[in-house]
Amino acid sequence: MIQLKSPREIELMARAGEIVGRTHLEVVRPLIEAGVTTRRIDEAIRDFVRSEGGELLFLNYHGFPAHSCISVNEEVVHGIPGDRALVSGDLVSVDIGVRKEGFCGDSARTYEVGEVSPEARHVFETCMRSLAAGIEMARPGVRLSELCGAIERVIRAEKLGLVEKYVGHGIGREMHEDPQVPNFVGPLFGRFDPELRAGMVLAIEPMVNAGTGDVRTLSDGWTVVTTDGGVSSHCEHTVAITPEGPRILTLAPGETWAY
Ligand code: MG
Ligand code: MG
Repeated sequence: MIQLKSPREIELMARAGEIVGRTHLEVVRPLIEAGVTTRRIDEAIRDFVRSEGGELLFLNYHGFPAHSCISVNEEVVHGIPGDRALVSGDLVSVDIGVRKEGFCGDSARTYEVGEVSPEARHVFETCMRSLAAGIEMARPGVRLSELCGAIERVIRAEKLGLVEKYVGHGIGREMHEDPQVPNFVGPLFGRFDPELRAGMVLAIEPMVNAGTGDVRTLSDGWTVVTTDGGVSSHCEHTVAITPEGPRILTLAPGETWAY
């Protein structure tokens, strides 16, 4: 069942989302450079979110052993931060989930370390454009399948790999609520294709691969990688559907959405 949020609840979600946005902008982005370990980034995320009174949603989620997911190059999602040091040319997706005052925010951003390959840049830009296409459709009266189809069209047009195995989701008091938000129009919509309404809040999160959309999970039980070893990008925002249109809740204050 899709839980609608009141305007007051959306304001609370914006407070949680703002912490996520600030963590990306003020903590992660300045740390991204060759030589830094993913654990160092994770620890900085932990320290900042806690200093803001936020609860880190990924720690111990089904046993996940860190505070954020950091996925490098062929890693798609759910990468475990550790001793790996970033090198120039890496494409790094960092996913952060925070609860504050009972409500959640969830956002992943992809970062370039130094100069990345044209292929990696293409994957990243397509992921961002597909996220933007989805956000643009987050309006009352639009069918969920239309939002998902808008994401899909951007990725397919670039002939890149669309990851179908992992999907976006409703979000509120819980990180994962109904409905599922696939990045494509799949069989799900035969029976269930709700009209979007003001008060719905969705985490929209395309994952785009350079090669095929096929993925597998490493023996650590978490890290999802591309089957063909190609580079991948994951971009996500928490977006409220309001009478005025989409409101991105996981930007930092004053940050503009440029896509
Ligand atoms: Mg996320
Ligand atoms: Mg999510």
